[in-house]
Amino acid sequence: MGSKERGPGRHYECRGCGQPLYATHTHQEDSPVRDWEIDHQHPPSACPLERLLPLTGSADQAVHLPQAPHLLLPLPH
Ligand SMILES: [Zn+2]
Repeated sequence: MGSKERGPGRHYECRGCGQPLYATHTHQEDSPVRDWEIDHQHPPSACPLERLLPLTGSADQAVHLPQAPHLLLPLPH
């Protein structure tokens, strides 16, 4: 209904290995908070952050997840 899925338009890179990450979320009605799941698009051969991914949690934006600054490199469009 009022859900605004940004779909595949929002991408991040892994701060550990530089590989692309996907970010999916479920949107709860009547709430700006989304449940996120973020992980490598392809399993990395070696990533120092592998044990910390997938990143899951609830926030209005993925970059607002507590661990996001340590894991994500937001792409400048
Ligand atoms: Zn990585």
